[in-house]
Amino acid sequence: MRTAQRIAELPPYLFAEIDRKKEAKQAQGIDVISLGIGDPDTPTPDRIVDVMAEAIRRPANHQYPSYYGAKHYRQACAEWMDRRFGVKVDADDEVVALIGSKEGIAHIFLAFVDPGDYTLVPGAGYPVYHTGGILCGGQTHFMPMTEENGFLADFESTPADVLAKAKMMFLSYPNNPTSAIATPEYFDKAIAFAKEHDLLIVHDNAYSEIGFDGYEPPSFLERPGAKDVAIELFSCSKSYNMTGWRVAFAAGNAAAIKALGTVKSNIDSGVFTAIQDAAVEAMLGPQDDVAELSALYQRRRDLVIDALAKIGLHAEVPKGTIYVWARVPEGYTSAEFAEKVLEEANVIVAPGNSYGPSGEGYIRISLATPDDRLQEAIARIEATL
Ligand SMILES: *Cc1c(COP(=O)(O)O)cnc(C)c1O
Repeated sequence: MRTAQRIAELPPYLFAEIDRKKEAKQAQGIDVISLGIGDPDTPTPDRIVDVMAEAIRRPANHQYPSYYGAKHYRQACAEWMDRRFGVKVDADDEVVALIGSKEGIAHIFLAFVDPGDYTLVPGAGYPVYHTGGILCGGQTHFMPMTEENGFLADFESTPADVLAKAKMMFLSYPNNPTSAIATPEYFDKAIAFAKEHDLLIVHDNAYSEIGFDGYEPPSFLERPGAKDVAIELFSCSKSYNMTGWRVAFAAGNAAAIKALGTVKSNIDSGVFTAIQDAAVEAMLGPQDDVAELSALYQRRRDLVIDALAKIGLHAEVPKGTIYVWARVPEGYTSAEFAEKVLEEANVIVAPGNSYGPSGEGYIRISLATPDDRLQEAIARIEATL
């Protein structure tokens, strides 16, 4: 049996070694605390589960779903975009349902990237922006992100030869893993850049509902001209504690939505319609649980930021997402510090370099961890330093 070259070209899974060590420790009865994963620890709100419980009994929902998403689902997505951001999208040709935004990210490459083409990818970002390209023979250009420039991916420094072969650029703010937010001016510059170089922008807005201190993350599509060059991905996963349900959508430029839908209609058969019904409730029902969720993460953020300051680890105070991005102490790489913390404190943190070259020198701490475990983990890290 011979697997395809593209499998060999995928980068090694950086958590693999950490997982192996974690399992070895757990086998010895050691209590390991994981601050590594970005998966909400609190349940899906009851109002959403209740809608699902009914929807699952409707025989019409037991048949194949619509490829592009049920009409009522696409209309709900458009209605939510309008209520939440004042952005108008046409439910018929500017919205497509996704089986989680990860699915859309992976499949958009098949719609836009031919072998050898470049994709401009944030220097620290969601790993599928890079691996999705590898899987279809594309190449990645990592755009530098630095603390000095507020972790805004620097597309302007992209070399001309790369730009000549680039078709697509990913951006994502509020950002995973750095928690940085973007300015409207930055988005406007990105739109002008995409027009000049004939690029599709994919803005991954996975944390659109997780904002702190009154900050409400904007939609990229609020910016003038955005729809000429961009699609945006929204997901119920982090916003409504629905990571396990697999439901999201892409909205924006009609030609790009059509291309993505065409790829998808040849690969998957859509999102279980009962789950789309539940997602309609998530988006259009009362949004109190969304505010409560942000308040919960904000409280945990404060707890972690205070504790890190006491230990002497530098971290910017995030305005959104479920992560704190902290600089590792002098003399360590990301991987070395993550390893030390696991070995000595039995705590898992995500090494920054696993998100791309700009992540070197940082670790990511997930706030999707119960308060007492979070406090215990920080105390243990303090004891190792
Ligand atoms: C969690 C996450 C995703 C994946 O979301 P799903 O909708 O669950 O597939 C995509 N992008 C970013 C930046 C994320 O953090």
